[in-house]
Amino acid sequence: MHKYTFIFLIVAALCAPSAHALQVFACEPEWGSLLHELAGDAVSVDVGTSALQDVHVIEAKPSLIAKVRRADLVVCSGADLEVGWLPQLIRQAGNPKVASGPGYFLASDQITTLEKPSKLDRSEGDIHPQGNPHFQLDPYRVLAVAKALDARLVQLDAAHAAQYQQHLADFSTRWEAAIKNWEAKAAPLKGRKVVVHHLSWVYLNAWLGMEQIGALEPKPGVPPTSAHLASLIDLTKNSHTLAILRAAYQDQKPGDWLSQQTGVPAVTLPFTVGGDDQAKDLFGLYDSTIDKLLAAAK
Ligand SMILES: [Zn+2]
Repeated sequence: MHKYTFIFLIVAALCAPSAHALQVFACEPEWGSLLHELAGDAVSVDVGTSALQDVHVIEAKPSLIAKVRRADLVVCSGADLEVGWLPQLIRQAGNPKVASGPGYFLASDQITTLEKPSKLDRSEGDIHPQGNPHFQLDPYRVLAVAKALDARLVQLDAAHAAQYQQHLADFSTRWEAAIKNWEAKAAPLKGRKVVVHHLSWVYLNAWLGMEQIGALEPKPGVPPTSAHLASLIDLTKNSHTLAILRAAYQDQKPGDWLSQQTGVPAVTLPFTVGGDDQAKDLFGLYDSTIDKLLAAAK
């Protein structure tokens, strides 16, 4: 081999673009899953939390800071869900690409939230001033987020624009077909009443026509007390209640106790991707959620 050919090959190898055009940090598993749908192998995604963690209260560990430091894009729910840790991660990472501008993507900026309080009163508990941030279980809001996120990927990585647009078209087609399926399947849930652990299900309830009649937390973010749980017994027992709903990461004892007192089943829903075996991606998350609710309705 000619000496210059050899040098050229070395230089070419060193300059070859990495397989992933973008490095992304996703705060929650549902956005990690959405990024895989929209980008395939064009992006490499670090997911900061798991379904078994309470994403309201994550510790800003050095391992997370390192992931934000190497990111080209940060994707989080927003609406102050991560207010206790994301600003700290971004500050400590010292990575201007994701501190603001196109590298900083909040899903809540792409949609309208429910339960936006008209006045802020911290005595009412850990109220989310920008509205309820648990909108990953509304498929229409997820689709709106998908469209905005895809546009952001195109903006940051124009070289793969065609790939992102093709993935979005493909995802939208499959997602809209799945929504029709889920809505048909979930028809028996319409009008059913649920008691919830935390206010994690307002979008799911609104979508499927279910009604929240009580919460195990006396105030949002405040752990259940025995006096408050006892006050829920009659209501839960006498309302033909479908289920007591909780997320995979939540303490099961309060819901189990109320279930024993009332005969209403306590149902653990995945809440996000990875919350159970079926919830391997966004589609599985919705499949599992609806299957578990229907099982309680039998
Ligand atoms: Zn919350």
